[in-house]
Amino acid sequence: MHLTSKKTIDDLQLKGKKVLIRVDFNVPIKDGKITSVKRIVSSLPTINKVLEEGGKAIVFSHLGRVKEEADKTKKSLKPVVYELANQLGRNIIYVDQTRGAKLEHAIEKMQDGEILVFENTRFEDLNNKAESKNDPELGKYWASLGDVFINDAFGTAHRAHASNVGIASNIAESAMGYLLEKEVKALSKIVHNPIKPFVAIIGGAKISDKIGVVSSLLEKADKVIIGGGMAYTFNKALGFNIGNSLVEEDKIELAKEYLEKYKDKIILPVDHASATSFEDQERILNPSHPLQIPENTMGLDIDQYSIELFKSELEGAKTVLWNGPMGVTEFSNFKYGTEAVAKEISKLEDAYSVIGGGDSVAAVENLGFEDAFSHISTGGGASIEFLEGKELPGIKAIQDK
Ligand code: ADP
Ligand code: MG
Repeated sequence: MHLTSKKTIDDLQLKGKKVLIRVDFNVPIKDGKITSVKRIVSSLPTINKVLEEGGKAIVFSHLGRVKEEADKTKKSLKPVVYELANQLGRNIIYVDQTRGAKLEHAIEKMQDGEILVFENTRFEDLNNKAESKNDPELGKYWASLGDVFINDAFGTAHRAHASNVGIASNIAESAMGYLLEKEVKALSKIVHNPIKPFVAIIGGAKISDKIGVVSSLLEKADKVIIGGGMAYTFNKALGFNIGNSLVEEDKIELAKEYLEKYKDKIILPVDHASATSFEDQERILNPSHPLQIPENTMGLDIDQYSIELFKSELEGAKTVLWNGPMGVTEFSNFKYGTEAVAKEISKLEDAYSVIGGGDSVAAVENLGFEDAFSHISTGGGASIEFLEGKELPGIKAIQDK
């Protein structure tokens, strides 16, 4: 995918146009309150550009999953609209519908430089998953509401939904927004020509989600550090006792293959903090190698020898890519490994560092290491698929220059 070939917002004439803007407002909401406004803030450059140029900004997003009527109250974009109005410092026309006369009239009445937000696109999933399955009628309908389309939702770019691919395929003109463009540029640096030494760090919970990216990173990177829950499948493949740690039995063979083929590249933890449960306040440290995790306990974090090892592998790195925490950071007792790795990255001079993945990003933000990275990706699955070298449908559907 050659990013230079895709239209961007700067290639569009926006004045007086009805500009459909697909953003990613899939924010975490707890008890009706937004707990992180990051995604809303990230959408502002594109929205402001459209408003400043005198376009009519018609903004929409998905929010969570909508499986039944009852989900609608919890998954309404209304709290997001309040926050966005707050951030923009202006009024927003809010339409609590995803289609129909009310929405169409509201759009007809819009003045240049005004902004309208309509409801959660996934409300349409109650109609045979029309949004998520990219129902052609829905994409066509939404496209008919505007003159041009801007996709700025990187988080869903790896999915062909009606609100991205559907619209892009049915409208005269389409382009990437600033956020999408920034993500593509930042991740392209890693996919196409990472400056060496290139060290990748992969952690988190599910190997099966990340196996594709692990294999492409094993090809491209000089070292691949594996931590978090991921590490235990590899540890088991090496014949170590992993106690009750997370494991994907059906990936053990593959792990063995990788360990054989890339034995000089794969760096595994050499010690662990384990416990009988996540809530356990006691860290049982297992500084032994070969690894032995006591029966009935789970490895929940890396420990000091692993931290030292990972630090030394990171030394001198010029490109660092990180996806997936080193431990169960949701529990303060098991955040040390992730914290130490973040700290080490923050100390690297002139390294290009990128972190992606919902939980990884939340962890480094909570630990106060946001500034340690050259780029923090807003996409989890999307960033992984991009790094695997896949063409993301949401980007592919955008018109060439
Ligand atoms: P991301 O969202 O950054 O892509 P994942 O979703 O793959 O990351 O993984 C994050 C989850 O992995 C977190 O909930 C974390 O608690 C869990 N995790 C990390 N290390 C372990 C471990 N040793 N055992 C079990 N779960 C783990
Ligand atoms: Mg996650």
